[in-house]
Amino acid sequence: MHSKNNKRILVTGGAGFLGSHLCNRLIADGHHVLCVDSLFSGSKDSIEHLLNHKNFKFIQHDVITPFFVDVDEIYNLACPASPIDYQNDPIHTTKTCVIGALNMLELANRIGAKIFQASTSEIYGSPDEHPQRETYWGNVNSIGIRSCYDEGKRCAETLFFDYWREHKLDIKVARIFNTYGPGMKENDGRVVSNFIVQALNNHPITIYGDGNQSRSFCYVDDLIKGIITFMNHDELRGPVNLGNPNEFTMLQLADKVIKLTGSKSDLIFKDLPGDDPKQRRPDISLAKDVLGWAPSIQINEGLEMTVVYFQNLKKI
Ligand code: NAD
Ligand code: UDP
Repeated sequence: MHSKNNKRILVTGGAGFLGSHLCNRLIADGHHVLCVDSLFSGSKDSIEHLLNHKNFKFIQHDVITPFFVDVDEIYNLACPASPIDYQNDPIHTTKTCVIGALNMLELANRIGAKIFQASTSEIYGSPDEHPQRETYWGNVNSIGIRSCYDEGKRCAETLFFDYWREHKLDIKVARIFNTYGPGMKENDGRVVSNFIVQALNNHPITIYGDGNQSRSFCYVDDLIKGIITFMNHDELRGPVNLGNPNEFTMLQLADKVIKLTGSKSDLIFKDLPGDDPKQRRPDISLAKDVLGWAPSIQINEGLEMTVVYFQNLKKI
């Protein structure tokens, strides 16, 4: 084991939105980072600035195929997160969630590494308990268009807890709620990037369904702090909700984005995709009480920083 500030850390999915922020933070903290990513939904552009760093290494690899490295910690983030991306090749998404997790758990078990799993609020499905606590078992369709991701991530949680029970593996399972911020892809398909890009171009804002479904949006810096605080906590193994409990409907979000950007965009209404959850808000009491973590950046400030990021992208 390396010293506290000089660990060897594997980040799967490190070229994605959250993974690239996590790599930045771990490198800034003095660690050695190995980023493994298939580039399915991520891009080398997001880690371009790290490629020549002496403590950073990138390997293009798909986690559904086992590989061996010796590290102290593993953050398992590999998996497309935008519904458009994960529904693009649903069978591969299930393989990534399940076989990918299994491969990383096998690796962690072999080398004695601590392992973090990026689980998701999607494991609650379309929740009939609101807000969602970690004790809620969820309401998930096993055969719908979101199931490759939802059930894949649920099965990954099962594997993590069986490795803990069977092998005493040091596991950390976080259920991440909708996160946004600089670094999202322009064509990512998720609501925050869609609305901002549409507003900046004065294109119609696409509201799916009647826009009364809700989500709770966490700014990426807050989330990354939460992940790292959790990983470094001695006892809590999770599952723990990480997200911002401030909840908005998609109509409210569109209104905020239009006001912030001064856009002339109108709203257009499109069909609601199958199994789209009606509501979503984390109860973060566990993270607050045990980790002492809570998000500090609220939606207007976070959206402003994200708008500036997309404005700068447009200028390039
Ligand atoms: P993302 O799609 O931007 O990043 C995922 C990364 O994983 C990409 O770089 C992609 O190329 C890589 N990847 C996908 N399949 C792979 C495979 N089989 N092998 C190797 N690499 C693979 O998504 P994100 O928003 O950065 O999400 C990261 C993780 O966090 C995911 O596991 C996701 O389920 C979880 N999560 C994210 C959110 C969110 O709001 N961003 C919410 C809940 C959970
Ligand atoms: N959504 C929308 N317009 C868009 C993209 C998404 O109204 O252009 C809605 C989508 O139907 C969902 C919510 O916004 O109800 C959040 O969608 P996202 O894909 O960001 O995340 P998830 O559904 O996985 O929470």
